[in-house]
Amino acid sequence: MKKTILAFSRVSPSMLEPYADKYDIVIMSPEMGDMDAQFEAALPNAHGLIGGNRRLGEVELASAKNLEIISSISVGYDNYDLSYLNSRGIMLTNTPDVLNETTADLAFALILATARRIPELDDWTKDGNWSKTIDASHFGCDVHGKTLGIIGLGKIGEAIARRGRFGFGMNILYSGKTRKPQLEEELGARFVPQEQLLSESDFVCPVVPLTAETRNLIGQKELALIGAEGILINVSRGPVVDQDALIQALEEKTIRGAGLDVYVKEPLTDSRLFKLKNVVTVPHIGSATSDTRDAMAKRALDNLLMGLEGQWPRDLVNSQALRQ
Ligand code: NAP
Repeated sequence: MKKTILAFSRVSPSMLEPYADKYDIVIMSPEMGDMDAQFEAALPNAHGLIGGNRRLGEVELASAKNLEIISSISVGYDNYDLSYLNSRGIMLTNTPDVLNETTADLAFALILATARRIPELDDWTKDGNWSKTIDASHFGCDVHGKTLGIIGLGKIGEAIARRGRFGFGMNILYSGKTRKPQLEEELGARFVPQEQLLSESDFVCPVVPLTAETRNLIGQKELALIGAEGILINVSRGPVVDQDALIQALEEKTIRGAGLDVYVKEPLTDSRLFKLKNVVTVPHIGSATSDTRDAMAKRALDNLLMGLEGQWPRDLVNSQALRQ
């Protein structure tokens, strides 16, 4: 009997076509109607799931009696209930590495856009306000030579730090769980306590996974330490930052600005953030370039096929699942 693959998002039919002889393949698509209904109909027969951006836990997977592996097209895996997957012996894989540079590009775009107030001044120019030369009310702040603080100098954090160090001559501070002596040498990065990082950095970027420990890592107290000249950039996960506290700090200008790719609730359709000029918002586009999304889908497909063929998938997140 052929195993069934259910592709629930982010995979093109042409990518799966070469495997149609070996697997039954179900590809969901908005043109075929309600996505949740398609998912529920296909799930009981699925041995492997591939896609991204769908919350999957005990309730959603109750009918997935044949499921062996979920191949997530993302690096973060906070959408999945790991302990439940482990208890069922279901493997979970992710797609690290291939999106590091693209996500770091976006973080840097947010740093520049926020510091130099690009979206705000773009609107201002297009609204026909440029009738005489600009004055200090339009000035931004420098990026080059300033201090960039990375909380979580992992793969993406490192790629952001490289841009800051070698592209913009920035001083790099970092905090986190472990020291990285090689990066300290290469980037001149200094490992400091988080409170020191928050108060000494001009730009603060948390680049940590969302876990119980990192939820609300940046709250009211941390925002106060960032201070009126500091800018917060979040490309990690929305709940890493206390969004209400951030909005209050932006409204009261107790921090200078923020550049946000991620939010507590996504999609973000209405928010007090939309009324603020000192925040730049983009719709979770960290890895959203054609090249990178293709590379992620390819890596996820490799993981899926390895899992279904009885091999140890390259990016297995939960080896515990195989010990059940
Ligand atoms: P990574 O290589 O695993 O790096 C994560 C870093 O966070 C590591 O340096 C880790 O420290 C640190 N960390 C973990 N828990 C911490 C804590 N409690 N306090 C301080 N530091 C902590 O992951 P990555 O590939 O860079 O990705 C990071 C996150 O970015 C992902 O989990 C994902 O949620 C998010 N992301 C978002 C987008 C987007 O589209 N916006 C795209 C890709 C990724 P150690 O090195 O000491 O373990």
